[in-house]
Amino acid sequence: MANGPTDSSERFPRVVRSVQQLRSDVACARAAGRRVGLVPTMGALHEGHLSLVQAARDECDMTIVSIFVNPTQFGPHEDFDRYPRTMERDLPLLRRVGADLVFAPDRQTIYPEGFSTYVDPPAVGQPWEGQCRPGHFRGVATVVLKLFNLAGADVAYFGRKDYQQARVIQCMVEDLAVPIAVRVCPTVRESDGLALSSRNRYLDADQRERALALWKSLLLARQLVQGGERQAESINGRMQQRLIELGVDRIDYAALVDPVTLQPVARVQQRTVALVAAFVGQTRLIDNLEIEPCSS
Ligand code: AMP
Repeated sequence: MANGPTDSSERFPRVVRSVQQLRSDVACARAAGRRVGLVPTMGALHEGHLSLVQAARDECDMTIVSIFVNPTQFGPHEDFDRYPRTMERDLPLLRRVGADLVFAPDRQTIYPEGFSTYVDPPAVGQPWEGQCRPGHFRGVATVVLKLFNLAGADVAYFGRKDYQQARVIQCMVEDLAVPIAVRVCPTVRESDGLALSSRNRYLDADQRERALALWKSLLLARQLVQGGERQAESINGRMQQRLIELGVDRIDYAALVDPVTLQPVARVQQRTVALVAAFVGQTRLIDNLEIEPCSS
């Protein structure tokens, strides 16, 4: 068993920091025929993360949540140092949703002295985030592959909130024949539509209001498509205009893309995805929405 012999509604998940311990716990579970799910996170958990844990719980017999703020996916001027680290708040949340094991390695465990092998991310990682955050997906793909190899899970869970990231992982798993199933789960939002994000906690009240611009620009795109507009350039322009009107400070991109290749579309003829990335103050936020031209 991954947990101690306490009442299952009250027990904290077991926190494991060493690879050896992780592997022996997973080996025990697998030897007992249990299906193992992995939810990779950087901590500072919210209901979006917890929905992934819930999905893993529904489908697997043992749920592992990794918490590791991965330095290699942050650019030199990004928020690695100030990224929230809230383990003492994360653990009770994970207890609530019934995670079995938390893998919380330190930096040395993932990137020991002499580490020098990186995953060159697939083509879907080149545009958008790949352009705006050079090296980001190289860091993501590398740490995710390493976590997959360490945990030896059957299924891994990711959020659609990071749409391009999920595509990068799916392509990597397929291209490199990584023996794991990838599940992509719906974006969890606040009641007004703001996508939950660990970075939302950087926002003050005024910025929180302005952050809604991302969701509203996505709704506008959907409304335009459903109203019959098919020219992506026009829709992209209207999204950008809406973002500015509603107070974002800088737009990185707002575009309709093919849901598989993530290449920009010229005309909306089938399912597309609207992707947005924008700054509110110093905080960079991303969001997306799948859009069906025919849906009502
Ligand atoms: P992070 O801790 O930001 O690396 O995110 C860990 C996982 O949680 C990733 O697969 C994210 O896509 C997912 N995630 C983050 N925010 C949300 C959300 N609002 N809804 C669903 N999944 C999310």
